Amino acid sequence: MLTIGRFAPSPTGPLHFGSLVAATASYLAARQAGGNWLLRIEDLDKPREQPGAADVIIQTLRHYGFEWDGDILYQSQRHEAYRAALAALQEHTYACTRSRKGLPTLPSIRLRTHNAPICFSDSIQGYYCQCLTRDVGDFVLLRADGLFAYQLAVVVDDAFQGVNQVVRGADLLDNTPRQIFLQQLLGFTQPTYAHVPLVLNEHGQKLSKQNLAPALNTSARLQTLVSALRFLGQTCPDASEFATLSNLWDWAIAHWDISTIRHSQA
Ligand code: GLU
Repeated sequence: MLTIGRFAPSPTGPLHFGSLVAATASYLAARQAGGNWLLRIEDLDKPREQPGAADVIIQTLRHYGFEWDGDILYQSQRHEAYRAALAALQEHTYACTRSRKGLPTLPSIRLRTHNAPICFSDSIQGYYCQCLTRDVGDFVLLRADGLFAYQLAVVVDDAFQGVNQVVRGADLLDNTPRQIFLQQLLGFTQPTYAHVPLVLNEHGQKLSKQNLAPALNTSARLQTLVSALRFLGQTCPDASEFATLSNLWDWAIAHWDISTIRHSQA
């Protein structure tokens, strides 16, 4: 079976070192398996989006030598598919209105959960289980502001694109049982999962666009990629050993070893 991996950034700011680590891991896992690697822009949450960020992310990935297969998928173009999935889930959902300060608001739509454990084996973090009602509760699929929730969109799009290998940051480990539950209800095949450790800043916080992680350096690409590979536990030669970016990628694809990535707590 052809491996299909993907990188799915939200355009809330430029790429930072943490996103490069996630992109690199998903790219190498897919390429080493001889598979395809897709790029999806998760631009569903317009209020959180930074204008122009999607293009900056795409340019930066290209500049670092990432090559994706096929066209880029934009979640902002996929509302019909999310609406159809929500309709298919109707018997498992309910509308929930919580009016703030007495103001009437539109209802959000939640998915009814259960407490039978949902477990999966993560290729990096090991065996992981959640009881959804206890650990998460009934969760939102359509927000009160009319936006489709990430959980629904990611499941619908991974299935639509045939993604069977999800490699992403460990901050999403505890979202995975919700996504598996949705896959089960919608009759989708479950991909394999690998959650890479998070890059933390000097205050021990996850690097994120929200806490203003610096944008990726665009001049020292080889050095930055070597740092990303070493962060991922790969015994990578020094940047000076590589004449070109494509030499480095060839080395990294040939030598990629997921088993040397250290575990981390999400
Ligand atoms: N769009 C999400 C983010 O930027 C990632 C979604 C995923 O990989 O499942 O954090």
